[in-house]
Amino acid sequence: MINIVELVNRINQEPAAFEAAPRDHTGHDVEHRAKTESHDCACCDQPACAALVAETAIGPRWVDVCPDCYCHLLRIAPFEGMEP
Ligand SMILES: [Zn+2]
Repeated sequence: MINIVELVNRINQEPAAFEAAPRDHTGHDVEHRAKTESHDCACCDQPACAALVAETAIGPRWVDVCPDCYCHLLRIAPFEGMEP
C-alpha cells in the first residue's frame, strides 16, 4: 500500500508500471473499464471502482482507484489529462 502522493509520483516516474490506455479513449472506454472489469486500486489494493487516464511521458496509462483514493487523487493531482 502506498499513499496518494507516492501514487502520483509513481505515475510520473514509472508510467510503464501502469497499463496503457487507448490514445483515443472515450468516456465509454473509461466507464467500461471501471464498471465491467475488475481491477485493484493502484493505491491501496481495494477493489477499484473508477478508472482515470493519466497522460504520461509514454502516453496515456490507466490508473484504477477505489472511491476513497479517487477523491484524494482528484484533490491533490490536478495534473493535465487526468479525467474521470
Ligand atoms: Zn484505494
